[in-house]
Amino acid sequence: MSGENIRIEDLLKECSSSGLRRTAALEACLRALASAEQPMTLQQIAASSAFDVSCDPATIYRLVSRLEERRIVRRIGFHSRAAHYCLRESHHQDYLICRDCGSVEVLDIACPVEHLEKKIAQESGFSDLEHELEFFGRCANCQD
Ligand SMILES: [Zn+2]
Ligand SMILES: [Zn+2]
Repeated sequence: MSGENIRIEDLLKECSSSGLRRTAALEACLRALASAEQPMTLQQIAASSAFDVSCDPATIYRLVSRLEERRIVRRIGFHSRAAHYCLRESHHQDYLICRDCGSVEVLDIACPVEHLEKKIAQESGFSDLEHELEFFGRCANCQD
């Protein structure tokens, strides 16, 4: 099995232990998200070559919402029409979001608050800290 297949199998196990039924659509959804380098909209998931089953947009929305509730998938962006989704990885990423068109980019710099996380863990006694950073602005396309 390839690395990606192992990863999909792990995700499917996580899904079934949290009560999600293993369906072709669920598997296709995880494959599409796992194959993408950027967070995806629901339309992009449906259009992905890794999404190899036919299924209506409402079903994809329901699936992705369930994955989000179970914290397997993370939702990025505040525009509901331009919500983007990605797999919640063991290592995190921070994002840059356009407040005009809702486009999402992975922030291409070292995480600016990692040291802060360690400090907060030490001072608060919390363990397993994580954070999600979303920077909002206007993308290059929306500036002209
Ligand atoms: Zn924009
Ligand atoms: Zn970060």
